[in-house]
Amino acid sequence: MSRVKLPPNARWSNELVTCPYCGIASPRAEAWVCGRWIKMLPYPCDCAGYRKNLARVEQRERERRERAEPRLDVPERFERAEVDASSYAETIKTGLGLYLWGGNGNGKTTTAWGVAGILAAEGWSVEVTTLGKIGSSVSDTYSTADTQDALFRKLSRCDLLVLDDLGKEKPSETSGALLYRIVNERYEAQRQMLITSNYSRGKLAARLAEGCAPSTAQAIASRLSEMTAAIEFTGTDRRIA
Ligand SMILES: [Zn+2]
Repeated sequence: MSRVKLPPNARWSNELVTCPYCGIASPRAEAWVCGRWIKMLPYPCDCAGYRKNLARVEQRERERRERAEPRLDVPERFERAEVDASSYAETIKTGLGLYLWGGNGNGKTTTAWGVAGILAAEGWSVEVTTLGKIGSSVSDTYSTADTQDALFRKLSRCDLLVLDDLGKEKPSETSGALLYRIVNERYEAQRQMLITSNYSRGKLAARLAEGCAPSTAQAIASRLSEMTAAIEFTGTDRRIA
């Protein structure tokens, strides 16, 4: 059994995961969030490689707290909305991303802005955008290699990236490649994403595959499954998968 000390809301699960640092299978931890046990990311492991990475994450957290004023401009209509996004924000803080999905008008976007606002107020750098907006910035006539580098740096390095209404735009090779790049960079940097979509993660893969290579769509869906807990917004209850 691992000697890692878990936070008070977490326990060890029966699921074994292979540590990318030492290659040894160890139990994955799960945390009690929003009324359910959800798998924690990272798992954690006991080895030097894992601990080194954790130290890097903690250093980042310290830098975050030391940072000056938060700078997230929450649109007024979301600022006024009365949703309790605190349990979602707590989930993000455990290192896990969120995938909020379900039909329109069930409060996904409002919740996403609520989480963004809470974390920004605690010093997190948060970007809230859509794949469509990112795509427009990239294809903008005035866009240069420098402005694109700056954009991708921001998207991969911000503490939390919120992608609203994923799957809304007509899927294409370009948007599929763009999404894969963003998701993969954040995956490798172990930084969380909060995604809202009308599609479940499985349906999103099918949706993306309408315009891009099925292998790209699958790779995106698989990364998202590892990075996020999916929560279905049905209007009345919220189910975690
Ligand atoms: Zn390890």
